Amino acid sequence: MATITMRQVREGEVPPDGGTARQEDPDRPVFQGNGPDDYVCVECGNVLATAMHPVQMTKKVRIRCGRCSTVNVSVIDGYEGANKQP
Ligand SMILES: [Zn+2]
Repeated sequence: MATITMRQVREGEVPPDGGTARQEDPDRPVFQGNGPDDYVCVECGNVLATAMHPVQMTKKVRIRCGRCSTVNVSVIDGYEGANKQP
């Protein structure tokens, strides 16, 4: 079980697909899966998703924190780069 800090969406970074999930209740994660990792807000550390698989947390998954309104995206550094290799 690991806790992974998400990162803030860069300015102008708008993925062509996917949407932004909004956390309505700051005390309740938006997503609950059955994987190994929890994901927390980059700004305030609020838990946004629990027990997620890395494959579930792609660039398409964005979550607006219910506590500080930061939009988080779940790209793990190196993950996309690895996929771009021939
Ligand atoms: Zn936050």
